[in-house]
Amino acid sequence: MRPAPHQAVARGPLNPTLPSYLDAHALGPWGHYLQQIDRVLPHLGSLSRWADTLRRPKRIMVVDVPIELDNGTMAHFEGYRVQHNLSRGPGKGGVRFHQDVNLPEVMALAAWMSIKNAAVNVPYGGAKGGIRVDPRTLSPGELERMTRRYTSEIGIIIGPHQDIPAPDVNTNEQTMAWMMDTYSMNVGATTTGVVTGKPVDLGGSLGRREATGRGVFTVGELACRHLALPLEGARVSVQGMGNVGGVAARLFAQAGARVQAVQDHTATVYRDGGLDVDALLAHVSEHGGVAGFAGAEPLSNESFWDVPSDILIPAALEQQITPERAARLRTRLVLEGANGPTTPQADDVLADRNILVVPDVIANAGGVTVSYFEWVQDFSSFFWDEEDINRRLVRIMSQALEAVWAVALEQQVSLRTAAFIVACRRILHTRQLRGLYP
Ligand code: NAD
Repeated sequence: MRPAPHQAVARGPLNPTLPSYLDAHALGPWGHYLQQIDRVLPHLGSLSRWADTLRRPKRIMVVDVPIELDNGTMAHFEGYRVQHNLSRGPGKGGVRFHQDVNLPEVMALAAWMSIKNAAVNVPYGGAKGGIRVDPRTLSPGELERMTRRYTSEIGIIIGPHQDIPAPDVNTNEQTMAWMMDTYSMNVGATTTGVVTGKPVDLGGSLGRREATGRGVFTVGELACRHLALPLEGARVSVQGMGNVGGVAARLFAQAGARVQAVQDHTATVYRDGGLDVDALLAHVSEHGGVAGFAGAEPLSNESFWDVPSDILIPAALEQQITPERAARLRTRLVLEGANGPTTPQADDVLADRNILVVPDVIANAGGVTVSYFEWVQDFSSFFWDEEDINRRLVRIMSQALEAVWAVALEQQVSLRTAAFIVACRRILHTRQLRGLYP
């Protein structure tokens, strides 16, 4: 018998972990995030009642970004902004311009921001955005028009109290300046706090540009102390010579480590005994990548993963350390500068091989931590000096790692699962306190 229209029909979703708009066969990083959540559930006690909140983004926006190209024709780009969880505060997370950006990837990156912000205890939820474009194919004018149109399209869900974007892969201070200006023009008032990672002259924070790399170095130094691994002379391999990898490489070199192998989207370079990192960074800024650097020998891209090291820093894209590569790595410590560089199965291989992984949600949280300082400074229009900022950054990062380390020991889990335990408890506790509306 069919139920009367007013009778509730008990009908759960077909697969509670999978929103209907996703193709189960093409989950990519979002599938990995879901597996990470599965691993943390047994540790959440009564809070696991709320755990499905973490398996679905709160809000997804997909926008068409049309612009006129310099040659007079039109181009359309697909843009995204995903707000994964807003229980602890406004959304916070970067904007990525990359030809491979897609919805499940942005969902995963937004979810990892929820976890990261809670793990280091900054008062934000998690969000992320992006445009599916290779920005290198656009002129500066086209790039500006695309950024402004994207900002205008997502303008109804961002704001200093709603969701605060920041730079990510292929976006930078200039991108943030255009975003801040576009948002400000649309609302009719200069609103510096709508984005972070801005130029210092526009309300940006001292130390923000280096913050993520500095955070990677800070937790790396602490982890090395736990492993009794001296930094002086330690062999370091880095994938990605951008904002994160470049700064981290420079700080490790300054601390006496030998950065021997570096890979970016243009090539892999190697020098036994250590590369001249400053010279390499100058080459990258002049030529757009490490290819052709005279002070090193070229390696094939795949052999990057075979170079023996003490510390490996993936600081480029997700899903780089696969189970197959994890089985080959000859290193002691993986410091995740990138978001999601290690797949859950690769995590298991690394754990079996006794290779320590400091997970992304702790290791690369320095950027969002100084973004938080930037946002606070913008609200008060009172700006701190760089020494103060770096001191506070080191304190927050060190406390976060030590707290997660203690949970890992207590629960006998990896640092990643421990970081997820700390973060999910905080998020779901807030969720519980706020209750379900209506
Ligand atoms: P970036 O654009 O400054 O640099 C990206 C680097 O990755 C470049 O050196 C590029 O050549 C390299 N790269 C790109 N594709 C590659 C490939 N297929 N193989 C090898 N190298 C490749 O970006 P970024 O801001 O340094 O971000 C790097 C990673 O760090 C991303 O995962 C990002 O989400 C994460 N992250 C960035 C920040 C930040 O504050 N910028 C904060 C937290 C996490």
